[in-house]
Amino acid sequence: MQATNIAGALTPDKIKRSQILLVDDQRALLESMQALLRISGYSVEMATSGAQALEALQQGRFNLVLLDLQMPGVDGHEVLRFIKKHEIDTEVIVVSGESSFFSVKSAMRNGAYDFIRKPYDPEELLATVGKTLEYYWQSRQLKQTEQTLLHSERIHRFIVNNSPDFIYMLDPQGIFTYVNDTVEELLGYKRNELIGSHFSKLIHSHNADDSYSFFSEQRGGERSTNNAEIRLQVNPASPPTECLDNYEVLVELNAIGIYEDDESGERTYVGTLGCARDITARKHSEAQISYQAYHDMLTSLPNRLLFNDRINQVFAHARRTEQKFALLFLDLDRFKLINDTLGHAMGDLVLQQVAQRILDCLRAEDTLCRFGGDEFALLLPNVESKENVASVAEKINRAVRQPFHVKEHELFLSLSIGIALYPKAGETTESLLQSADIAMYHVKANGKDSYCFYSDAMDGTDSTFLSVERDLYLALEKNQFEVFFQPKVEPSTHVIVGMEVLLRWRHPEKGLIFPGDFIWIAEESKLIVPIGDWVLQSICEELVRWKRRGVPDLKISLNISPIQLEQEGYVQKFIQTLQQFGLSASMFELEVTEQGLLKGQSEIVRNLRQLREYGISVAIDDFGRGYSSLTYLQSFPVNTLKIDRSFVREIEENQNESCVVDAIAMMAKGLNLHMVAEGIENLLQLDYVRNLGCNEVQGHLYGEALSAQDTLGILSSSPVEGPHFILPN
Ligand code: C2E
Ligand code: MG
Ligand code: MG
Repeated sequence: MQATNIAGALTPDKIKRSQILLVDDQRALLESMQALLRISGYSVEMATSGAQALEALQQGRFNLVLLDLQMPGVDGHEVLRFIKKHEIDTEVIVVSGESSFFSVKSAMRNGAYDFIRKPYDPEELLATVGKTLEYYWQSRQLKQTEQTLLHSERIHRFIVNNSPDFIYMLDPQGIFTYVNDTVEELLGYKRNELIGSHFSKLIHSHNADDSYSFFSEQRGGERSTNNAEIRLQVNPASPPTECLDNYEVLVELNAIGIYEDDESGERTYVGTLGCARDITARKHSEAQISYQAYHDMLTSLPNRLLFNDRINQVFAHARRTEQKFALLFLDLDRFKLINDTLGHAMGDLVLQQVAQRILDCLRAEDTLCRFGGDEFALLLPNVESKENVASVAEKINRAVRQPFHVKEHELFLSLSIGIALYPKAGETTESLLQSADIAMYHVKANGKDSYCFYSDAMDGTDSTFLSVERDLYLALEKNQFEVFFQPKVEPSTHVIVGMEVLLRWRHPEKGLIFPGDFIWIAEESKLIVPIGDWVLQSICEELVRWKRRGVPDLKISLNISPIQLEQEGYVQKFIQTLQQFGLSASMFELEVTEQGLLKGQSEIVRNLRQLREYGISVAIDDFGRGYSSLTYLQSFPVNTLKIDRSFVREIEENQNESCVVDAIAMMAKGLNLHMVAEGIENLLQLDYVRNLGCNEVQGHLYGEALSAQDTLGILSSSPVEGPHFILPN
């Protein structure tokens, strides 16, 4: 047939891979063909009958069969039918001496690719073989490509239809030509309801105008619509479900214009391809995350972060309009008690109810924040007058005072509120917060359950006073106080007969602070009352510990401020505490300063009398510094005089003229009072007061006040006859 050397088009690799089966009953012919093809590089096998050929075809893979039609037994036609029936992947060239047109035609119809006449022309044979094999390889490759394409097309179709995104195509008129299955779930439309209709029915009315041009984007490349947020309209006929909420769905849209080049090379817009992703859930969680960042989860109130934001706005507005605003600091009184006794879960419920009560007292423009724990901050913008703010604070105090019903409990709470007014109490967030905080502690220190303006708290006091007051309050809450002990000694035997309890404040930054620096502030702010309660409580705990360690009973002297003594019910509270610890009242002596007694309130005298009746002794501390009047000594229920250490300090060697100490000693003797000298620092002073008949002494000669632990160390390591000092001669 074609004499062109097509075999030349076959690459050496394909020649090498080509397996040829020669089928003919003429062996000589077979061998000559085999030799010719092998020289050309093909792999060749031979079959000398139709039957042998069938066997070879069943076993091996041949890309080409050269088939003689006329053979005894199984002839070439039958071999062809076999190949067709078993779908054997091979091409067939009929090699036939038979020139019968019909026979060749029928072979061609049965799948033969070409034919060669016998006797063959070698060149024609090679050309036909080459061409047929080229066809074989090309057509198989094409088939494979087709299959791959079909496969990938299926993949793409699958991806598009199963995509959670809504994918669509529009024609140039904006008519849907394709939508994927997702549209049904997302917007409640069936696919065929949309195909053929205009896209505008999907654009929700709550959109900006450009959403139309985004959806039917005509621009290609980088200028096309990229992550635009638009609202799609849900099918009004489909019932709204959870995801079809409000008949609108917020999507993030990507769309691109599709262009085709015509023959003249001109580009025309043929439609839009778009992909819309439902971001409702994402938006929701984004909103939730930012809500969580700016709110307190327990009460849903704004937190400190949002507070900072709000106060900045309020500042800006106030500066612009020269208006006042108020910052209130609110703290629940004794909230720790609720947490400790009823548990944190109850505490949380209480806080929620408290927050709601406060909110109920406010205007829409006010901001209540929870700063953590039981602390709240409240911003009142645009306040007209101080009285306005006071009435809000009063209202809140009143509201919180009403009993709370939490589960089966009825709880009574109160709030301490500190108020800072801008600009008087500060011009920055920090200074305003600090002022409100200090004012709040002023309320706490003065009996709680009230409010106070920073400016009022400042009246007649300096700011250090107020910040110490605040720190004292916190010291009590944070357990920063400690009790120290100074021994009281019998001056002849040096036996320890008692201990004076002296308060110390272990400040986290300033170290150990002595009472001289804070007692007066505690007295002035009345914090001395809870502090005194704390002292008594911890002394009792300590004494129980001493008892367990076998320490013999000692007289315990407590310093009491007149502020404590003028409290109603002070004695009952004192006695109850002693009973609670199983301690006898006669162990105790209370030291009251002369100045304290001179206040002369009847409550103080009544309380002292009662204490005496319980067996508690009363000593006048720092005696000699004040009036030292005989009249009041007679009228007060006093057991002991403590000579002030300033007189002891004046005792000098070879002193001839009598000093104040002598006079006091005379007075004590005359009134039959016990006498104690404090501030004994040397042996001379000791001898002097002993000779005067002093019953007890205390001072640095024996030792400074020691911590509870060191004191216990001294007391428990004492000899049998009792704890005493051995002094150098
Ligand atoms: P006070 O009751 O007259 O206590 C004696 C003070 O003199 C103590 O000072 C003590 O450490 C100090 N002192 C003792 N021996 C000597 C000495 O030999 N030389 C010198 N120079 N000083 C000596 P402290 O502890 O600083 O107490 C000062 C005052 O604070 C006390 O005077 C008392 O009035 C008051 N105070 C202490 N603790 C309390 C308390 O728990 N409640 C009340 N309301 N007041 C307290
Ligand atoms: Mg004292
Ligand atoms: Mg004293």
